[in-house]
Amino acid sequence: MSKAAYEVVIVGAGIVGAACADEFARRHRQVAVVDRDMVGSGATAAGMGHIVVMDDSDAQFALTRYSQRLWQELKPELPDEVEYEQCGTIWVAADEEEMKEVLRKHEYYGKAGVPTEVCCAQRLQGLEPNLRNGMAGGLLVPEDGVLYPPSAALFLIQRAERYGAELRLGASAVEIGQGRVRLSDGSEVRGEIVINATGASAPELTPGIDVKSRKGHLVITDRYPGFLRHQLVELGYLKSAHSLRSDSVAFNVQPRKTGQILIGSSRQFGVEHKEVDQVILARMLERAQHYMPTLSGMLAVRTWTGFRAATPDKLPLIGPWPGDPSLFLATGHEGLGITTSLGTARILADQILAGEAEIPVAPYLPSRAAKEYVRA
Ligand SMILES: Cc1cc2nc3c(=O)[nH]c(=O)nc-3n(C[C@H](O)[C@H](O)[C@H](O)COP(=O)(O)OP(=O)(O)OC[C@H]3O[C@@H](n4cnc5c(N)ncnc54)[C@H](O)[C@@H]3O)c2cc1C
Repeated sequence: MSKAAYEVVIVGAGIVGAACADEFARRHRQVAVVDRDMVGSGATAAGMGHIVVMDDSDAQFALTRYSQRLWQELKPELPDEVEYEQCGTIWVAADEEEMKEVLRKHEYYGKAGVPTEVCCAQRLQGLEPNLRNGMAGGLLVPEDGVLYPPSAALFLIQRAERYGAELRLGASAVEIGQGRVRLSDGSEVRGEIVINATGASAPELTPGIDVKSRKGHLVITDRYPGFLRHQLVELGYLKSAHSLRSDSVAFNVQPRKTGQILIGSSRQFGVEHKEVDQVILARMLERAQHYMPTLSGMLAVRTWTGFRAATPDKLPLIGPWPGDPSLFLATGHEGLGITTSLGTARILADQILAGEAEIPVAPYLPSRAAKEYVRA
């Protein structure tokens, strides 16, 4: 890194930091990105890459839909390695109670202009013949997609570099704020704006942020082309993903371009180690096999874990950190950071450079989570 001072210094080269670098560099800001590891090595390397519109809250829906549109616009520029595919999601309803949720979602998405199709049991079987018989139906959301997150982060960083951004890998930040980033080797990088985009590690650099690590497991199989056509998620997922206390698993499978099947997912709080938990893994695979019995005969080639950055209200922290005019946050994306990376970068840059964004930013402002810290 040749200069000591920049307009924007981004700490973290995961997909969120990469998207911020790309957004600010394309707007002709002098950008530096520092990461203690490599591009896309944190949760970004562990994530599933489902580009999904979610409606846990109006604010979550607004950011996921906005971001999905930005991915669609970017699609023609994405190289093959990003493996972006608009395969669609099917929310699978196991029973009539879950079919009520299908209808609610259909109405909600429809009012906001997101196309969906309510599928009866027969239609669902036609779309995904390997699902267990006896499902009640599902909701097809055809504009959802999938991509390979580390390659997407690399693409964004490389595009930022073409616009002049400078990247420094293997550089660990130990302190940030007041217009500077202090690195573990004692050197400093100065920036008018410093963005904390370190995912689940964000509280280490900005004490007072209520972000907790939420561990997840994934499994990828050998190649079985044609076995699965859509991202399938059980509607029970909505209950388990919402639970802030207990460990949970849910049926969530994704077709990869390679013919492999990515199987998820689990959620655990209060677990700091990266090791695969055999009990959670067994529960997760059992759940998957309950929905797709023939998965049990497939060869799994790799299992891994990652840490989501969870906030209490399940919305990310995007914007200024109270008390330090140079410091901005872009973290807390939990299980949606791949989807919402582009929207995060766009609304952050819009807030800073234009004073207003295309969607209301208030629900994501860190000030909502900073009250106790500011009082202290
Ligand atoms: C199992 C699992 C499945 C998921 N599935 C999906 C999905 O299908 N769709 C979706 O949208 N999202 C998904 N997610 C969530 C998504 O992966 C994350 O929200 C996203 O990757 C967060 O990106 P990030 O850039 O904020 O953080 P990270 O990718 O964690 O990047 C943070 C970066 O900061 C660097 N860093 C940390 N501390 C320092 C420091 N002190 N100095 C310098 N650098 C530092 C790290 O090295 C890292 O590169 C999933 C997550 C998990 C774990």
